[in-house]
Amino acid sequence: MEENQKLIDPNLVLNFENIIKSIGEEIDREGLQKTPSRAAKAMEYLTQGYHKDPVEILKSAMFKESYSEMVIVRDIELYSLCEHHMLPFFGKVHVAYIPNGYIVGLSKIPRLVDVFARRLQVQERLTTEILNCLNETIKPHGAAVVIEARHMCMMMRGVQKQNSLTTTSAFTGVFKTFETRNELLQLLNNKER
Ligand SMILES: [Zn+2]
Repeated sequence: MEENQKLIDPNLVLNFENIIKSIGEEIDREGLQKTPSRAAKAMEYLTQGYHKDPVEILKSAMFKESYSEMVIVRDIELYSLCEHHMLPFFGKVHVAYIPNGYIVGLSKIPRLVDVFARRLQVQERLTTEILNCLNETIKPHGAAVVIEARHMCMMMRGVQKQNSLTTTSAFTGVFKTFETRNELLQLLNNKER
């Protein structure tokens, strides 16, 4: 696809070469010869969200519809990079909204998540960016985003807590009322994990 056709930024390759040297490795070692360009390509892939327009993605599949019950897309796989350590955090995203005249194609919701996840992020901001984009673009009666994630910067370094799960949530409109929010959280809790 388009990412593969793009040339890798030579500056990024050079920077990875410098990182490898700086940590005390031999840049000429056989196994490392292509590593700077591979790492640069991977980093470009993992941060491709900067070059994508989430509003355009939603608008490409927005349909007039009178359905006005809760729509939930749950267990969307999440892979992102924390902006403090540039280490992965990963988990599940659940997105819900109550339509107000418009729905979006269901496959666009995971794509929306990816646009914001494939940037340097903090889980809190990722949660509100997904929410605000959905809310402002399709203007539902309300929207909700819940993210459960594990952070490699906590698991591999620092406090080395392997099992801590960070949950963040954000709500707009009718989801700010106790009943609607509770209905959503109950539906999310009822799933078999
Ligand atoms: Zn971190």
